[in-house]
Amino acid sequence: MRILARLWHLAGFGGNNAPPTRQRHWEMLAAAGFISVAAACMQVLPDQHVALAYLPTWVVPPTCPMHAMLGIPCPGCGLTRSIILLAHGNLGGSLEMNRMGLIFGLAILAQFPYRIAALARPGRTILSRPWTKGIAAALIAGLVINWLLAISIWPQRDELAPVAKAPHVQVQPTGSP
Ligand SMILES: [Zn+2]
Repeated sequence: MRILARLWHLAGFGGNNAPPTRQRHWEMLAAAGFISVAAACMQVLPDQHVALAYLPTWVVPPTCPMHAMLGIPCPGCGLTRSIILLAHGNLGGSLEMNRMGLIFGLAILAQFPYRIAALARPGRTILSRPWTKGIAAALIAGLVINWLLAISIWPQRDELAPVAKAPHVQVQPTGSP
């Protein structure tokens, strides 16, 4: 859910239609670089926890409030793991975690040529605002549609084997019928 809120903000919904500033391009470039490096430095453990690549004892606690409270995945569930697996070349595992991980991975990779081209040629619009908003909206719609499929007819990894919670949190089965 946090990912969705972030995307909504990054997509500039509710903002004006001014072209992105240079600062914005730098921020997105830095974010894409950070996500790429972080994904390469992380691993998905057999119990589905995320940990540092060479320090499996450094486990990242699960951060999804919806999954923790309701026992069902949110639209963004599995996305982090999906992108980590993708960064390590595990396409099958990535799709199993969240089918949108591949799309988001490609969108993150696309930031490098797009932002660098925009920074290299100031004042020249590469993608106009309606396009960037449309792409962002399509990504969010994809997440939601994929989520509806995942919780109904086309389960993802989260439904097959719920993410183990941190040791101090009680483990709940998912609420799928
Ligand atoms: Zn979630």
